[in-house]
Amino acid sequence: MPDTAITPDPRAPYDHIGVEERLGAHNYRPLDVVLARGQGVWVWDVEGNRYLDCLAGYSAVNQGHCHPRIRAALIEQSGRLTLTSRAFRNDQLAPYFEELCALTRSHKVLPMNTGAEAVETAIKAVRKWGYEVRGVPEGEAEIIVCAGNFHGRTITVIGFSSDPETRGGFGPFTPGFVTVPFGDAAALAAAITPRTVGVLLEPIQGEAGVIIPPPGYLRAARELCTRHGITLILDEIQTGLGRTGKLLAEEHEGIEADVTLVGKALSGGFYPVSAVLSNTEVLGVLRPGQHGSTFGGNPLACAVARAALRVLVEEGMIGNAARIGARMLAALRGLGAPRVREVRGRGLMLAVELHPDAGGARRFCEALRREGLLCKDTHGHTIRLSPPLVITEAEADWALERLARVLAGPTPEAPPPGR
Ligand code: PLP
Repeated sequence: MPDTAITPDPRAPYDHIGVEERLGAHNYRPLDVVLARGQGVWVWDVEGNRYLDCLAGYSAVNQGHCHPRIRAALIEQSGRLTLTSRAFRNDQLAPYFEELCALTRSHKVLPMNTGAEAVETAIKAVRKWGYEVRGVPEGEAEIIVCAGNFHGRTITVIGFSSDPETRGGFGPFTPGFVTVPFGDAAALAAAITPRTVGVLLEPIQGEAGVIIPPPGYLRAARELCTRHGITLILDEIQTGLGRTGKLLAEEHEGIEADVTLVGKALSGGFYPVSAVLSNTEVLGVLRPGQHGSTFGGNPLACAVARAALRVLVEEGMIGNAARIGARMLAALRGLGAPRVREVRGRGLMLAVELHPDAGGARRFCEALRREGLLCKDTHGHTIRLSPPLVITEAEADWALERLARVLAGPTPEAPPPGR
């Protein structure tokens, strides 16, 4: 059999990791577990070992793995019509818009596929709105962003990242962004100029390690944007759709963004589906030919998203996230493990930050994997915990028992070099 055979020899154990490392670009550093199956909060590797998934596809699998109702919608729609492009209309798009707008109290939707595309779309729309509606001189629009942000991986988006690893070596970047510290309303106020058209924020910074801004920060940002007549753009791609115990994280401060970005769990992890939601004025500036995507708003995506939204609400997943999240936060805070520096969280968006002398979070994630728990380290010393929102009390306690054992136990061995 040639070296690059597509079909593995069923008689031989297949070297998934070796082949992936040899043929794939090394743009990820995964834990060495090869998953083959998932159901609810559980996943199984190719050897049949079971794990509780505490990452949930970076919050894309809020509804649990392979949710049967979303799967049924996918199968049903894939046998009827999958792609029309927006050259023609399809019979899933209008009901999807109607349901999504009703749920999120939005007036307009622009459907895209990945989160980064939704961010790019919002930047385009808000800039155009700034020129046409606000009268900012063409080519001078500024959008204020926050240090520590993570909004995706495209050139424009990484251009306003403050993380050297994310942006290093990829310039030149798109101009027009001004960075302020996250959580500092005074700094935000001071950065607003006559050229400012919008403020782009994550309500809680996820990739940065679940950084929760001080109470009142989002409300202050809302007030500043209203006072200056600029758009508040909330990236709820990770915090949205139940993750923090509310449908949208903005609800924790009783505010409404002008532009809201959703993605990830909008498809329950079946398929890349994202959307820009806004009031009529902002998305209203886009005219035919000015933006689009071959797959955005396709009937399969719409059918999957409709089912994903329905199960999220009808099966009480948002309330469950609030309830179980509070239980996990309290238990993690009560651990008293000396190597834990801080535990942060809202709903089921949780993080355990370790003291720098604990030896790094990666080795603890490896140790947790050996205990049957899949977690991901971020920024060296933080373990992120974001299980599917369908997690039960018993499953949460099962996870907490293992977390307690590993976090309070002997220091695990360092991961192999480069891992
Ligand atoms: N915005 C936020 C807040 C995210 O957490 C992510 C992904 O983790 C993105 C945008 C990018 O989404 P995608 O990976 O689907 O492009």
